[in-house]
This record gives sequence, C-alpha cells and structure tokens, in this order.
Amino acid sequence: MRPSIQPDQRLISVVVPLYKEESNVRPLIVRLAEVFHRLGQPWEIVFALDPSPDRTREVILELIGEGFPIRLLTFSRRIGKPLSLIAGLDHIAGDACIIIDADLQDPPELIEVMLQKWNEGFQVVIAQRTSRKGESYLYLKAAQAFYRILEKISEVPVPRDTGDFRLLDARVVSEVCKFRERHGFLRGLTAAAGFRTATIPYERDPRHSGRTQISVLGAINIAFDGIVPFSRAPVRMLLVMGLGLVILGLVAGGLWLVSGMLWGFSNIWPIVLLFLFMTGMSGIMLSGMGILGEYLVRTYEEARERPLYIIDTIHEAADLSRPLSANPRTKENP
Ligand code: UDP
Ligand code: MG
Repeated sequence: MRPSIQPDQRLISVVVPLYKEESNVRPLIVRLAEVFHRLGQPWEIVFALDPSPDRTREVILELIGEGFPIRLLTFSRRIGKPLSLIAGLDHIAGDACIIIDADLQDPPELIEVMLQKWNEGFQVVIAQRTSRKGESYLYLKAAQAFYRILEKISEVPVPRDTGDFRLLDARVVSEVCKFRERHGFLRGLTAAAGFRTATIPYERDPRHSGRTQISVLGAINIAFDGIVPFSRAPVRMLLVMGLGLVILGLVAGGLWLVSGMLWGFSNIWPIVLLFLFMTGMSGIMLSGMGILGEYLVRTYEEARERPLYIIDTIHEAADLSRPLSANPRTKENP
C-alpha cells in the first residue's frame, strides 16, 4: 500500500503509560512498528512504567534487545497514569508526540490520520470516541455525564468524549511540560496550552487483554482533577446557593410573619420549617466545605513543591536520539 503522506525524516515519539501490561506490550509495539514502517517515518517509543508485579518490564527489555526503538522509564513507585504521561512527555526526542494507552483500546492505525492533520498544520490532533466497546453501561453513562459537565464548566475547551489519545507537536509538548501541575490532567493542560487543534473521530476498541487497573476511586480522582484545576464554577455555585438560601429565608420569614398576622401565630410549622432548614443547611455547608477543600488541598499540594515523579531507571535502545529532557525543564531527571 502506498503511504498517504510523504515520508519525511521528522522523528515521531510515542508515549505509553503502563502498569501490568505484560501481554499487551508486544502486540502494541508490533502494530505501531507496522504503522511507522508503512509510512516510512522514523519513530521511537517512550514507555513510562509504573513498577508492575508482572513481567511488563522484562518484556520491554526483551523488545529493546530485539532492536525496537524504545526508551523505558521506570518510576520509584506507582504514580498513576496522568503523571506517568507527563514524565513520558519530559523524555521525548521527537518533532511530534503521540500519546496512546498500552492496552490497544486506541487503534495505532489512527496515527496515520493524526500525522496527516499534523502535516496540514494542526499542532494538536485529538482522537474523539464515537463509540466505546467492552465497557459497562454504568461506566459509559458516568463517563458521558463527566464529559458533558466538563464541556460546560471547564474554562479551557476540552472536546467531549476525548481521552488522552492524541498527537502533540513538540512545541506544544514543551509548553505543556512547563505547567508542572500535580494533577497531570493532560486533556486540560493541552487545552490550557492552546495552539491549532483538530479532532478526528474513532471507535474505541475493547482491551486487547487483561483488565483495567484504574479503580472507581481512581477514576473519580481523575474526574475531579479534570474539573477543579480548570474551573471556578463549583465555588461560584456555592456563592449562588448561599444567595439563594438568603432569599429563601427572607421569603419564608415574610410568609410566616404575614400568615401569623392574618391568621394567628401557630407554633408548630415554624419549628418543622426550622428543622428542615437546618438539615438542608448542614448538608449544604458540609458539601460546600468539601468543595472548598478540593481547591485548598490542591493549593497545599502545589505549595509543597514535591517532584512530580521520581525516575528509578532509564533503559534505551543504543541508537535513540537524545531526548529533549536534556533541557532544564526536567528537574527530576537523574
Ligand atoms: N496505567 C498506568 N498506571 C496505573 C494505571 C494504568 O500507567 O496506575 C496505564 C495502563 O497500563 C494503560 C493506561 O494507563 O496503558 C490506561 O489504563 P486503563 O486501560 O486501565 O484505563 P481505562 O482504559 O479503563 O481508562
Ligand atoms: Mg484501557
């Protein structure tokens, strides 16, 4: 098959976060290699590996031995997908970067379309899911609700139904890597960086093998990280609710006064009303504190200035290009 874009010599880096993916790594790299060989485009892959109890690391070392253009970063502890991705971005050498999951839910063949868009001048190309296979009804509904909320209240434009699967021009990567925000929510960070953005549709496949290691709590954390650092709406909502309650209190008080003056003051319903009001208020106050807490905790976390991640080891194929991380933006580099 003829390549649909002119082969060029610009290097493409592929960043893959991994945790317990021993049976997916090889099929992933085989499919990636097939795509890049067909396109005649130089490429490298940066694996960002959370220490895994299975053989993921060993399989990657075997693949390096077989000559695949791999740079393997391992972390000193499990840091989770969002920060693994940031670490991966810190260690690319390419002119553009593709971010893709290890489980083949994101089809590597879409990279060809991403590169076409990049050649047209788009600096960010985001893959947008038109369908998702192999995921539960409840999970899909929750994800749908999250994307709708995010689209409404985020102060930066995050297209709905998009994950991390995307192409970023090296310029965008270098800007995104300057943010150093602890949540590592790449969808928001990319949108905050800006640049010329295109979206392309795709169908998300089921996992090639294994099962997701992101727990429900982990997914909720990621959802909060998508909203809190990029929106003032939750705090504004508290303000509006507070003002609403003041008005409600005034109206209820007025009604009580007027009805008392017209028909006499009963001492039962004000007590019932007071009880309901106090219960509602306590709920609102506590959840309000929770919302403020989400912002406060993040401020505290940023103020501590801990490193975003600690690299344990870096293994790489002999002939890889020098990563941009020689650049001072990676303080964590050993
Ligand atoms: N992942 C990771 N660290 C973790 C959990 C997951 O690097 O602690 C990687 C995982 O190996 C995969 C990607 O993040 O490449 C997405 O994970 P998963 O498929 O479990 O999430 P889902 O597709 O359900 O969002
Ligand atoms: Mg997955």
